[in-house]
Amino acid sequence: MKLTDVSKIYRIGTEKVVALDNISLEIPKGEICCILGTSGSGKSTLLNLMAGLERPTKGNIKIKGKNIERMSENSLARFRQKHVGFVFQSYNLLPALTALENVSLPLVFRGVSKKVRNQKAKRILEQVGLGTHIKHKPNQMSGGQQQRVGIARAFIGNPEIVFADEPTGNLDSKTTVEIMNLITNLARENNQTLIIVTHDINIAKYADRIVYILDGNIEKIEKTVKVEGEII
Ligand code: ADP
Ligand code: MG
Repeated sequence: MKLTDVSKIYRIGTEKVVALDNISLEIPKGEICCILGTSGSGKSTLLNLMAGLERPTKGNIKIKGKNIERMSENSLARFRQKHVGFVFQSYNLLPALTALENVSLPLVFRGVSKKVRNQKAKRILEQVGLGTHIKHKPNQMSGGQQQRVGIARAFIGNPEIVFADEPTGNLDSKTTVEIMNLITNLARENNQTLIIVTHDINIAKYADRIVYILDGNIEKIEKTVKVEGEII
């Protein structure tokens, strides 16, 4: 993924908010990248632009060699369906559906048969430690369990890129560690690119690289130091 001179300016009446100010950034395939910054610094805006959910006011965003800012809404939607997974702070599960149904949803949109969907959903729910909860609805699960369902849903289609916006923002510190280990292990196993947005420096340690965002600018980029695979 390559961003070149990307800006995003929101206009509210006559007011202008420069959410992103001329950002250039390259993220190689398979990298776990953390976008770190305080509230209002532009992290979510940056993630939404990279995911093709919003368009830049200026600049180019290339993913897999394609300029996504030039794609039509329809081709963008297809592109996201095929190549992108999302994990949200508030899980965004459908309350009326079971864990199994929530997780298989992305495969419905890809036209996968119900039998195969259920098999795959069951397998990935087992992988995230929820084999005994496949029939539970979101309100019958803890926050950590709901986020495991959210992660299973993001990864089920084996997307090349997974975006996570404050994935542990609603979780306690112990569950945060479990969820971060889970999501980063899944991404590493399949050589998927994982882009995590957070304000929490403890989360940033799980990444290969930390991009510090301040007032819509990249303040600095740091590689994390790992000793024999351990996070220090
Ligand atoms: P973060 O995720 O780092 O908290 P955001 O990317 O959500 O920050 O927001 C960056 C800036 O852009 C903030 O000043 C915010 O108020 C503004 N902003 C974000 N989305 C919109 C929008 N849809 N309309 C107007 N201003 C917005
Ligand atoms: Mg945000």
